[in-house]
Amino acid sequence: MTRVLVINSGSSSIKYQLFNMDDESVLASGSIEQIGEAQSLCRHRIHSGSNITESRSDLSVSDHSEGLSHIAVQLRESGAITNLSELFAIGHRVVHGGEAFREPALINHTVLKQIQDMIPLAPLHNPANATGIEITMQQAPDVPQVAVFDTAFHQSIPEHAWRYALPDRLYTEHRIRRYGFHGTSHAYVAKQAATFLGKPLQKINLITLHLGNGASAAAIKQGKSIDTSMGMTPLEGLIMGTRCGDMDPAILFYLGRITNQNNDEIESVLNKESGLKGICGANDMREVHTLAETGNKQARLAIDMYCYRIKKYIGAYYAALGKLDAIVFTGGIGENANWLRAQCCAGLEALGIAIDTNKNTSDSKDIFAIHNEAFTVSLLVIPTNEELEIALQTVDCIRKARH
Ligand code: ADP
Repeated sequence: MTRVLVINSGSSSIKYQLFNMDDESVLASGSIEQIGEAQSLCRHRIHSGSNITESRSDLSVSDHSEGLSHIAVQLRESGAITNLSELFAIGHRVVHGGEAFREPALINHTVLKQIQDMIPLAPLHNPANATGIEITMQQAPDVPQVAVFDTAFHQSIPEHAWRYALPDRLYTEHRIRRYGFHGTSHAYVAKQAATFLGKPLQKINLITLHLGNGASAAAIKQGKSIDTSMGMTPLEGLIMGTRCGDMDPAILFYLGRITNQNNDEIESVLNKESGLKGICGANDMREVHTLAETGNKQARLAIDMYCYRIKKYIGAYYAALGKLDAIVFTGGIGENANWLRAQCCAGLEALGIAIDTNKNTSDSKDIFAIHNEAFTVSLLVIPTNEELEIALQTVDCIRKARH
């Protein structure tokens, strides 16, 4: 059996999924949250077809090393594996690959060092990703490991789209540019869309909308990303749960002057207190919608702003692509909020975009189309699966390395 373990090591949590890549089924999954706190919440699930058995325990997991050891024990004790060494590979999610990584990379000490060198670009994410890799290399030294980067898919964006109109030296000396994120998700749903439409990925143009707690749009031309809404950091672009997305950068200086807040405080306002939460107090879209439905004006405004921002990106990326085959909705919001999909597409008939109200209310958990057949652009709802995509890219990377 080709078993691949996918690890997503965050600053205070580790998530994992064990796949049987012979049929792409999940064998086990779980998470450890609140690492380093007095009590950490550990969840472990054993999957058997559609049957999932979950066990939970409150342990004190002091660091990532202890967390990863605990995961190995859980996997062994539940019978998912007998030893880590029998894994075909381990795939790691790494947020920032900078310009060094256009593709997944087979991990060795040089690659690990490059990931560590990227820490200034992603100080919130890359340290924990690198720690996870370092520890796993010690715990499973014989298992090949692959780093799959959130930024890699967007390395195909042309320079006129990834450059900021800043002095040239800010790019040449400091690598300040658009990198984009959520690449694994955009790449996965793009492939799924091509299969669903029955066309080669290299022959279709898409706008993919990943709408979760974080949110980003990508313009995909003939299978390759040519633009995306997140920038040097995940703060740019669409409105998100707690992040502001696009705004006038001069607001930062004004804010600094009038509030005397320092850079870290202002960064925290933009990342953690803005977006839906900043506008209406709630960052979970279900809650925002319930508030709006019960007459809360701020919540209605938050939804109107959220959808308007998406609509502007649809227009911009349609123009960048020239021809558009499909728009893909994914992520917790994109997959579930039919009312939001309808609002984002309303009034775009002249662009060949129109929703079929009946199809849009399907609660299928699989891929489904929601467009009015009389219009040219397909509208698809595609559940994302970043873990599976990491596992697929991991297997692909190892097979290529062996040839
Ligand atoms: P993450 O980006 O952390 O992976 P998800 O992709 O799971 O998050 O998306 C979380 C968002 O999806 C939350 O805002 C949540 O409210 C929203 N969401 C989940 N289900 C629904 C639903 N049925 N209707 C509207 N929003 C939903």
